[in-house]
Amino acid sequence: MIGGGLAGLSSAVALAEAGYRIRLLEKRPHLGGRAASYVLPGGEHIDNCQHVTLGCCTNLEDFYRRVGAAEKIRSYDRLLFAGPDGRRGVIKSSLLPPPLHMAPSFARFPLLGWADKRAIARALLTIARSGGRPADLSNDSGGITMLAWLQRHRQTERAIRRFWGVILVSALNEELDRTDARYGIDVFWKAFLSTRRGYRVGIPCVPLGELYDGCREAIERRSGEVLLRAGVRGFLVTGNRVEGVEKDNGSVEAADYYLAAVPQDVLPELLPAHVVEREAVFSNLRNLRTSPITGVHLWFDRVVMDEPFLTLLDSTTQWIFNKTQLYGGVMENGGQYLQLVISASYSLVPRPRQEIIALCLDELREVLPAIRGATLIKGTVVKETSATFSPASGSEQWRPSQKSPLANLFLAGDWTATGWPSTMEGAVRSGYLAAEAILSDAGAPQKFLRPGLSAEGLARLWARES
Ligand SMILES: Cc1cc2nc3c(=O)[nH]c(=O)nc-3n(C[C@H](O)[C@H](O)[C@H](O)COP(=O)(O)OP(=O)(O)OC[C@H]3O[C@@H](n4cnc5c(N)ncnc54)[C@H](O)[C@@H]3O)c2cc1C
Repeated sequence: MIGGGLAGLSSAVALAEAGYRIRLLEKRPHLGGRAASYVLPGGEHIDNCQHVTLGCCTNLEDFYRRVGAAEKIRSYDRLLFAGPDGRRGVIKSSLLPPPLHMAPSFARFPLLGWADKRAIARALLTIARSGGRPADLSNDSGGITMLAWLQRHRQTERAIRRFWGVILVSALNEELDRTDARYGIDVFWKAFLSTRRGYRVGIPCVPLGELYDGCREAIERRSGEVLLRAGVRGFLVTGNRVEGVEKDNGSVEAADYYLAAVPQDVLPELLPAHVVEREAVFSNLRNLRTSPITGVHLWFDRVVMDEPFLTLLDSTTQWIFNKTQLYGGVMENGGQYLQLVISASYSLVPRPRQEIIALCLDELREVLPAIRGATLIKGTVVKETSATFSPASGSEQWRPSQKSPLANLFLAGDWTATGWPSTMEGAVRSGYLAAEAILSDAGAPQKFLRPGLSAEGLARLWARES
């Protein structure tokens, strides 16, 4: 098994529990892939970037439970937004049945006008009444963009900017004019309309790396092994079969089954060129584009924020996470550590790090006035230029199934065909699907994939009718 991100880990744990002996080879010195944490030269433990999950991510939840990490995720059911002048607005569930459960807080939401709310309510109702599959999308084979769909449904400019854009750019890491409308609509159906708890935000209360302690144990319990700093240079392929993997140190390992759980741009580099050219499944991976995320880490000399996290409207900074509070503690010097997230951060990629910090600080001073009297002790910017694959129109066609054209090679990764965008849930789904495919090939089929949340209330009736 090559790759110790969530796709590789979830597959490895599932297969180990099914009694298989796993050898997991990971290039880096730690597990978790893109959802990992590490220690800076100054000693600070930081996540590669803040990662959040949602209540509708049932497979990630299942994986965390299997590896004993579920209690390290804290769930929040109040979404707090701030306008550029600092004014706050809350979205939360009420006792009304889905899809109306958020209507009362939405009606009171102060950061949108009535014309915006009417337009949004109309479009949300269209999604809800169709069970998440609006008729105008089923007839649209070309894959229209989310922006085009919103314009077709007469959304105001402010509704697009302050509502649809805010939620979807974070959830899908792409601009609305590049996002396939199917992905965007799916987010609203699964997280906000079909169930009461789909939108709940789950945030780790420990550095990401601590979530994977149980993985190694689950694999080793079945005589398996997890090898770090064990990069793979390539697959040795004869005809239609993999005969072994060559590691960076030149040694060769052989197995009954091989699982490639590496990013989509790495896989073709590990396969012989003639295999990539021969099999469209591999060569087509070049068509999957990626989009960037920028994380900004700020350490202040005092407490500047009371809320656990905050979503900003009309600003470059999209989310602020109060890491000190989320970790449930206080900093020894009485200070506070915040992490900011900017998804689809194309405009920031070429900009110098100090300039990005200055830009974010300017915005934060309006939203968190206590920053005006505080001193920034340290700031770090982490630019992930290829953070996720882009859910662009038509991208679904390039995502391969977990069974590859080579007889004993299987694929896992958030980029394989899961129906989900590039997320931790997508990665775990791919891992479970790959494990199922391997067991099925071995003649011992077993199910690992968990179903999504079932629609509730009126949403359930409408989902049935559609
Ligand atoms: C900045 C950022 C923020 C994000 N925020 C969120 C979020 O809030 N919520 C969410 O759900 N998702 C988020 N994501 C997406 C999420 O991190 C990914 O979808 C998920 O972690 C992908 O897991 P994976 O196992 O498919 O791939 P990866 O995590 O990329 O794992 C692949 C592994 O393969 C290893 N590898 C590569 N080449 C080799 C080789 N030659 N030999 C051996 N090993 C190799 C890599 O080191 C890596 O560990 C974010 C991603 C980024 C980058």
